[in-house]
Amino acid sequence: MSRKPIIAGNWKMYKLTRESLATVIALKPLVTNANHCEIVIAPPFTSIKSVADKLEGSNIQLAAQNISGELKQGAHTGEICGDMLYDVGCTHVIVGHSERRQYYGETDAQINRKIRAALQFKLKPIFCVGETLAERDEGRAEAVVSDQIDHGLAELTAESLLRIIVAYEPIWAIGTGRTATPETAQIMHAVIRQCLGRRFGAEASNTVRILYGGSVNPDNIAGLMHEADIDGALVGGASLEAASFARVVHYDR
Ligand code: PEP
Repeated sequence: MSRKPIIAGNWKMYKLTRESLATVIALKPLVTNANHCEIVIAPPFTSIKSVADKLEGSNIQLAAQNISGELKQGAHTGEICGDMLYDVGCTHVIVGHSERRQYYGETDAQINRKIRAALQFKLKPIFCVGETLAERDEGRAEAVVSDQIDHGLAELTAESLLRIIVAYEPIWAIGTGRTATPETAQIMHAVIRQCLGRRFGAEASNTVRILYGGSVNPDNIAGLMHEADIDGALVGGASLEAASFARVVHYDR
């Protein structure tokens, strides 16, 4: 089964609009020939429209970093609805990032609502799962991640799974410089695919892309991409600078 890899950059709460524009202006020519993978960047909300205008006609797609779980516009101060994200040029949205689970108390049920909202507005959710170091040390990594998958994707169909991208991001590896080894990541990716297979059937689970995230950089990406069930990366720190993100995109060289 061949799955087109995805390299996605998560800029988190970094970059003023002019800095976002400078980064994409530098990035575009560096990745223009990258046909082996899909490229996605997730700027902060305030930069999305300006970046979208600059990316028109390019091979770089745009993600938001969060979405409201509401299915229509309404009186929800501070929230941003899926149709607004689609309107400004987003094709993807990151949902359930561990920083949102940890610092903003997002629950599996809220994440499930956000995934549904994204799908309703033709956005592809990049659905993040991953265990803490304590959970791994207690031997519970597989159970925790399987549980996040089961609850986050509750009552979704195999057809909708085809529009979802899963990102396995062990929390102990995010922003710590401590990457999971390719072998450790592969074991978890295989567990996730089996879990998806039980719920949605072999065809859907073999088609869904599962990205690895956690201190990915230009030096470790190739080893990770070598593994059978690793279909790309969600990159934080190393995506902030055009040159290093472009090197991650060109992991095949
Ligand atoms: C992330 O933001 O999803 C992430 C994996 O960050 P970093 O690459 O910096 O660990």
